[in-house]
Amino acid sequence: MIKWRGYVLELKLNNTQTALCYNSAGVARFAYNNRLAIISNNYKEFKISQNANKYKIKLGTAIDWYKDLILLKKEKTWISQVSKCCGQESLRDLEQAFKRFFAKKSGYPKFKKRGQRDSFRLCGQTFIASNYAQLPILGKIRLKEKNYPIHEGKIKLSQATVSRQADRWFVSFFIKEDIETPELSQLEDISINDILGVDLGIKELAITSEGNTFKNPKAYKSHLKKLQRYQRMVSRRIKGSNNRKKAITRLSRVHKRVADIRNDTVHKLTSSLVKAKPKAIVIETLKPKNMSKNHKLASSILDSSFGKIRDTLKYKCAWARIHLIMAPTFYASSRYCSVCGHKHNELKLSDREWTCSNCGVHHDRDVNAAKNLQYYALWLMDKHSPSGKYITSLARGESSVSSTQSYACGDERLQFLTEQCSSLKQEFKLQSKYIKEFNESV
Ligand SMILES: [Zn+2]
Repeated sequence: MIKWRGYVLELKLNNTQTALCYNSAGVARFAYNNRLAIISNNYKEFKISQNANKYKIKLGTAIDWYKDLILLKKEKTWISQVSKCCGQESLRDLEQAFKRFFAKKSGYPKFKKRGQRDSFRLCGQTFIASNYAQLPILGKIRLKEKNYPIHEGKIKLSQATVSRQADRWFVSFFIKEDIETPELSQLEDISINDILGVDLGIKELAITSEGNTFKNPKAYKSHLKKLQRYQRMVSRRIKGSNNRKKAITRLSRVHKRVADIRNDTVHKLTSSLVKAKPKAIVIETLKPKNMSKNHKLASSILDSSFGKIRDTLKYKCAWARIHLIMAPTFYASSRYCSVCGHKHNELKLSDREWTCSNCGVHHDRDVNAAKNLQYYALWLMDKHSPSGKYITSLARGESSVSSTQSYACGDERLQFLTEQCSSLKQEFKLQSKYIKEFNESV
């Protein structure tokens, strides 16, 4: 299947090229802010209607705005020193931002600030080769990483974005690639061993139902002291001084390092989950924003980048054709006993291990939660056994289902799912029916 795949590569710039990059980002920012200021000043006058077509007449389009920018070139000669794309493309971004605003998808466009998210987009004669990127005006720029993503020759790009993180510059672009995608497996063919329950946590970043753990590097926490020290250094320097600029660069390098560690962890985790080739992966629908309302845990939760894990897993599963199942937040996966389904209400956040009072099985908190997530998928597919015995025999390593096991309490987990999640089950079945029909029609 032909897919667009995104890449970000670091550039090895010389001094002239670095200066040019700063200037290009400056022009892009100027074009954006200048037009935004004009529009904002006349905002009341325009009395922009919510209708997207009407606004075109009143606001003009990116093309009209660019014509105005050309007129400014005589007076501000630095605009013509960089590629014309810088201004054009950032005006297009502004147009898009206003479209999103009128469609009520996002807020009113904001002004760009110098030194924050510096970037510009280039199109036209842009190429990527094994060891250089060729960009308009900037020319050939060496890449820090060689032979990635291509080994020989060069590929024409439709566009490339150059952006700055700390004091390093990166080029990002999309290439059309033929990605091998296996067929999505039918629900009927899926057994318990094909389903991977993944419990995301703070202490360990992730634990699978098979018992594999992934460490949480806690990048922010481990760099906190350094960040605080560098932040203090910035605030003690005189505003506008060169020493302050240096301190800011030093600080932003640490921020970049933290972001890099997080990014790396997320990709390693998601890749290894997908590479185990399960037919389905089950995770909890986590809402980091809601969770971080608990102030004691807030920084730890945000440091675990759950949102990024979910998003990355989404596309990697789609490419590897793995069913990604999201268990609802209100399914208390850590509280149920994965063997008998008894709910352990007394469980505290600090309890790492506990013993089920109903069946007497000793549980590791996170592995148990992962197994309950796995059970959720089985239940969605109608593959759970009504009494939970299927799971019981597996958890105890028994080969055959034990004949008669009776517990004091009933299966509260199953009861909960039947009562609270039946609409989710219907939705899931409907979706998989569509997928099946789609697969058959192709
Ligand atoms: Zn139990």
